[in-house]
Amino acid sequence: MKELIKEKVRALKNESGTHSPSIATLLSEIPELQIKIDACFLSNPYATDLFIDHLNSILPTQKFREILEYYPPQNYDISRKVSRILNVNEKNIFIGNGAIEIIQACIHRFAGKSIALPIPTFSSYYEYAMEDCDVKFFELSEENDFELNILSYTNFIKENKVDSVIIINPNNPVGNYLSKKEICSFLEANQHLQLIILDESFVHFAYEDDSFDLVENNNLVDTYQNLVIVKSMSKDFGIAGIRAGYGLMSEERVKTLLHNGYLWNISGLADYFFTLYGDKEFQKQYEPLRKKYIEESTVFFQSLAQIDSIKVFPSKSNFVLIKIPEHISSFDFCMDLLIDKGIYLRDCNDKIGLTGKGGFIRVASRSLEENKQIVEAITSYFK
Ligand SMILES: *Cc1c(COP(=O)(O)O)cnc(C)c1O
Repeated sequence: MKELIKEKVRALKNESGTHSPSIATLLSEIPELQIKIDACFLSNPYATDLFIDHLNSILPTQKFREILEYYPPQNYDISRKVSRILNVNEKNIFIGNGAIEIIQACIHRFAGKSIALPIPTFSSYYEYAMEDCDVKFFELSEENDFELNILSYTNFIKENKVDSVIIINPNNPVGNYLSKKEICSFLEANQHLQLIILDESFVHFAYEDDSFDLVENNNLVDTYQNLVIVKSMSKDFGIAGIRAGYGLMSEERVKTLLHNGYLWNISGLADYFFTLYGDKEFQKQYEPLRKKYIEESTVFFQSLAQIDSIKVFPSKSNFVLIKIPEHISSFDFCMDLLIDKGIYLRDCNDKIGLTGKGGFIRVASRSLEENKQIVEAITSYFK
């Protein structure tokens, strides 16, 4: 029975390419599975609750009907709404149907002949590179906890003569973080490049002091014309289903993108979200939920680190990468947790830069209660 389920999961995984099959896919294809906790997808569950509260309040009203019935506002209308919150001129903002859309658009239009990309990473970055674009992998080393050293990366960029570079901060699938100071010195040293994409999709989970205040690099796009800051709303606001993200970049580049389509790329629901996002009252409700989630996540990571059999890598994101003992396959480990305990984890064995190096698994932080159950399940697995 268990072997059969494992084979089915393996087949679904193969179909989903470099991403993992979603809970919905798993449950519809393998109904005998009982998934209790999704610790594969990376989102703040409290922020999802907040958005649902707002949705519920407009559901019985004419406003909701209008969201569905009419065309949504155009891209630049939405930029205007969010510019106040971002401290960036609206002309420097491009709204995307998910960050993925912005990543693809920028790599296709603004990258040159070669891209530098630290690995392990988020796979879309190399998958979207054009055929005539050479992707140079900068391999992060396990001995240094997969930390990105800005000086070595800058040297690598020089040696390989690349014209475009990617930095994801905090990175995914390892949640390590570069300080604002490090980011600034990297940008300063690489002004000659054609394109620097700084993906801050997880930056709401990062912090530089004990108050967990939000780190903001937004206005760097005023200084560095080659910089594009990419930001997904999927993870920090827990709304991957509505597809919302933005890119901050030079006015010239925003114009280029807008002249090439994207007129009504944002759905009414995503526009409704951006209206909330641009509202100071909504931000006031969101901020304590963001901090509460960071606090709980830090405690969760510390509890995981106390389990003897696993290594937990440093993270300032809402997930951690862990390494299990060499003799256990990461697939078997994930299947045991899924089938026996109903906990879905991300097997990172397929990630370029991690394959063949042992069993790496990414564990997302969920609600307080779910995090407790994850710690208990992993602890009892090794007993
Ligand atoms: C999930 C993810 C994205 C994609 O975000 P969407 O807004 O859902 O398209 C982009 N970058 C990184 C690093 C991610 O992990």
